[in-house]
Parts: sequence; structure tokens; C-alpha cells
Amino acid sequence: MNFIDMTLPEMKEQISLLGEKSFRAKQIYEWINVKNASSWEEMTNLPENLRVKLEAEEPLNTPRERDRQISAVDGTRKYLFEMHDGQFVESVLMKYKHGNTVCISSQVGCRMGCAFCASTIGGLTRNLTAGEMLGQIYAIERDLGERISNVVVMGTGEPLDNYDNLIRFIRMLTDKNGHNISERNVTVSTCGIVPGIRKLKDEDLMINLALSLHAPNDELRKTIMPIARKYSLDEIFQALKEYYSVGRRRLTFEYSLMEGVNDSDECVRELAAKLQNLNCLVNLIPVNPVRERKFTAPDRTAAFAFQKKLENYGINVTIRREMGRDIDGACGQLRKRYLETDNV
Ligand code: SAH
Repeated sequence: MNFIDMTLPEMKEQISLLGEKSFRAKQIYEWINVKNASSWEEMTNLPENLRVKLEAEEPLNTPRERDRQISAVDGTRKYLFEMHDGQFVESVLMKYKHGNTVCISSQVGCRMGCAFCASTIGGLTRNLTAGEMLGQIYAIERDLGERISNVVVMGTGEPLDNYDNLIRFIRMLTDKNGHNISERNVTVSTCGIVPGIRKLKDEDLMINLALSLHAPNDELRKTIMPIARKYSLDEIFQALKEYYSVGRRRLTFEYSLMEGVNDSDECVRELAAKLQNLNCLVNLIPVNPVRERKFTAPDRTAAFAFQKKLENYGINVTIRREMGRDIDGACGQLRKRYLETDNV
């Protein structure tokens, strides 16, 4: 295992195997997970010969920044990171009044196949490790010079399709000896993998879960999300209710508005019926047009009208503020563009 993926106890074990004193593990753990160090060289309280030895024997798999776009409109930053094996992932920093939120990727590519999403076009290449997920956050903090308060796992990939690494990532991110981000400030977004939601319930983590709903019934959902053929909305809702029965906050549903697909009045009615009596928030996302995909977003007036109609049923609805509209907006687009050109 690479040092960036190790918990403190694991690091202690590894350090003793290398014949070093145990307190070195704590120092290294802090350099990586608190001080955002990206190289052995930076760890100045380690003896020089140890740094040289570690550099030779245990190279750090820290993600390296390869490209960055900064929105002139709202300061949103989109990053392209290269992994140690040459794979690329994207992350986004969003600046809100209440703090800095980072949206990270959980996989290189994705195998869920949602019809409107750019991240899934080339399929899944591999899972990201816990350290590669953490590394995206640490690199952004380093670049920004400010602390990140909120983390959303809403970039490329299906987090519950990379379950063990996701849990390791969350435990390390929220570790008191590490970055110590509050569990309540972490949100995981899923397309609805029922066994994953059930397992997550038993982890005793107070993180928020968001469901990518996008359709009010299975029939329509199946036409845009292949995963809907495997798990019905009834099963998903049952698992979500159980998840939220143990002291967690309200449910969030993401609903990407696609003109002529899921924005009809009938959809509003069905959605309202489905969400009745649930403590939930619907987050409407006007679909980000992707070149290879045929979907378009309804105009602003129509999106507001959809919101209003849903609100009239007593449902909490927000329209996601379009952040960084002037930079490659949709998930996976910066990475795709980069892979298509020859500057890799
Ligand atoms: N696999 C996770 C994370 C995906 S990305 C999930 O399915 O939730 C986060 C959100 O963006 C998801 O709700 C996803 O469906 C949505 N999304 C993907 N492509 C989009 C696009 N082109 N426009 C709008 N939303 C999109």
C-alpha cells in the first residue's frame, strides 16, 4: 500500500517494518494529511537520509496538478490531476459564502452509463484509492492557500461502486489526527446502488447522501440510467429511508432537468407524489449539454416554473447555481477535452 493510502496505525506498522522509530509515522501522517505535503523532500523534520531512503523505496502517489481553469464569473476552479500511472481525473472548487467546497472524483471514468453524462463515455478505467481522493482535496488547498470546509463526492465515478476505498477515504478525511473534516460536511452522491446504501447505513458515519433521481418513475429512469434496470425506485427509497432513520439529516435528490425528457407537468405531479411526506430537498440541475449527448436544458423561465410547481406541493426545491459557467462546466469535460488533444 502507498503511504498516501495509509491510516496512522497502518503507517506505524509500515514504519516499524522499515526499521524506523514509531514516532516517525505520526510525523509523516501529519505531513501528508494535515500539512498537505506532496513529497518526502518537504518533510523537513525527518532526517535527510530517511527522506532519501523513502523517496527511493516508497514514492508517494500524490495526484499532480496538470491543468486548471479559473472562472472569471465566480472564482470556481476546475482542476485536472494526473495520477502516478498517467491517469487523469477532475476536481472542482466552489467558493460559497459559508466556505470552500471541493467536488472530487471517485473513479477514473465510470461504468454506470447514464445517458446525459460525459464521465461515463469511455467506461471505467479504474477505481481511485483513498489517498488519491484525499490528494485531490489536499492539492486544491495547497493551490488555494485556504482551508476546505465541505467535500462532495460528485465528480467522475460512482462512489458506491468503489465502496471500500470510499469508506477508507471518509474515515481518513474525518480523522481527528488527520484533516479532521466533520462527517456532516461530507456528501456522497449515488445513482442508487441499493446494497451500497444499506452497507453505508451500518458504517455509523453521519455523512449526507444524495440520490441522483432524474426521473419520477422506473420506466422513464430506465431510459436514461441503466442502473434503474437493476434497482427499482421502491427499493432505493426503502434503503434511503432506513439510512435516514438513524439521526442523519434530510435526504437530497438531484434532478437534472432535460427538456422534453423529464420536465413535463406529469413529471412534477409524479415527483410530488413520490416525495410526499419525506424530509427532503430536490436540487434541480439544468442539464449541462455534452457534445456527444443529445440532451438540452429547459430555459431559465421553464426551470423556475418547474421549481415553482413542485414547491406548490410543499416540497423544498433549489435550482443549483450554475457555477463556473465560463469554464468546462459538465462533469468530465475538462478531462475529455484533455484526452482528445495530444498534450498528454
Ligand atoms: N455517480 C454519482 C456521482 C455523479 S456526478 C451519481 O450518480 O450521483 C453528480 C451529479 O451530476 C449526478 O446527479 C449526475 O447524474 C449529474 N450529472 C452528470 N452529468 C450531468 C450533466 N451533463 N448535466 C447535469 N447533471 C449531470
